Amino acid sequence: MNKRIYLCLAHMSGKEQDFIKEAFDTNWVVPLGPNVNGFEEDLKRFVGQDREVVALSAGTAAVHLALLACGVGPGDEVIVQSFTFCASSHPVTYLGATPVFVDSEKETWNMDSQLLEEAIVDRIAKTGKKPKAIVPVYLYGMPAKIDEIMSVAGKYEIPVVEDAAEGFGSIYKNRMCGTFGTYGVLSFNGNKMITTSGGGALICKDVEAKREIMFYATQARENYPYYQHEKIGYNYRMSNICAGIGRGQMTVAEEHIAHHKHVCDLYRDLLKTVTGVTLHENPSVDYDSNYWLNTVVLDEDLRVIGEENAYATTVQGVVGGAAGVTHAVASLHTDCEPNTNVEAMRVFLDKAGIESRPLWKPMHKQPIYANNPAYLNGVSEALFKVGLCLPSGPCVTDEDVHYIVEQIKAAIVK
Ligand SMILES: *Cc1c(COP(=O)(O)O)cnc(C)c1O
Repeated sequence: MNKRIYLCLAHMSGKEQDFIKEAFDTNWVVPLGPNVNGFEEDLKRFVGQDREVVALSAGTAAVHLALLACGVGPGDEVIVQSFTFCASSHPVTYLGATPVFVDSEKETWNMDSQLLEEAIVDRIAKTGKKPKAIVPVYLYGMPAKIDEIMSVAGKYEIPVVEDAAEGFGSIYKNRMCGTFGTYGVLSFNGNKMITTSGGGALICKDVEAKREIMFYATQARENYPYYQHEKIGYNYRMSNICAGIGRGQMTVAEEHIAHHKHVCDLYRDLLKTVTGVTLHENPSVDYDSNYWLNTVVLDEDLRVIGEENAYATTVQGVVGGAAGVTHAVASLHTDCEPNTNVEAMRVFLDKAGIESRPLWKPMHKQPIYANNPAYLNGVSEALFKVGLCLPSGPCVTDEDVHYIVEQIKAAIVK
């Protein structure tokens, strides 16, 4: 095999270029226009529940503006699922507020509602104030126990910002993830379920909420013939070019989701007989994950070829490194890292031309958040040590999945 198999590469429908060409032909090369409106209409129809959608420049921007609209400001606290990508929690800090981390439950790997309630009660006792918002996440597309989370949030009257960046098209009890809370975050980064090259959206409850988000996404301009500013705004609107890609992608969104689920079915089938490697799956019929990334956990006593050399050298292609600049590391280890068999599996697959990746390192284990309050049960840290993400995107063929599982088997010491 000489091609490389990636986790989730963007895949174009072919229609994207038509929408972009139209934008050029009609001179709509700006952060508004027919593609932005059209993409928002497509998304609105897709998520249902009579929600409104605002297209933005990134999922991170969507988290940021949702929190702003929830009134989060300096000195406030926001409860965030610890087991996530940093874009769920970093915007809390942009606003001068403090993320308070809550651990996950074992079934979905998402926010544990019991711990959430403990955290709320304890924060009120310790600070005299309620947290300003709650940010649960749909990790790798798996629906959270959002009804339980909503019920705790409702009891304390705290708004919920669902981070559905990875859960585009995931369904919980017949309802689209991202439509339960006050706001729902979507991401269209290059590696997500659909892409606009880079982009995001915020699902809002009504037209009024949408208008407020659009106001802050366009530098908060007051209604005068000149630029009058009474609030601090942001330049977060999606461009009409990116939205053209999004409209093209929406023509294949259902296909992409079906493909990710099909890849999951194949992994399930092929991994059935592989002891020590367990696929993460929908816990019951209430859950309908989009399987954005299929993930497995490795038994601690599974022996993998090359394990004795795991972490012997620093990684060259650090995760996400291709997309930006990363710092060289001073040491080969941190105080919390995947088990040696997981790292050995990653290296073995990498040499076989297969990209795999550890699960998100929990935010409460990140040096930058070392002093933040955290309500823990050990679940996310334990999963981080044993988990691995496998190729799952629209470019991954059946043949690829067979090859990947063959290589996983080949990596295991008999
Ligand atoms: C991708 C992602 C985001 C948003 O990311 P952008 O790259 O800014 O679009 C937010 N939260 C999670 C959990 C994500 O995976």
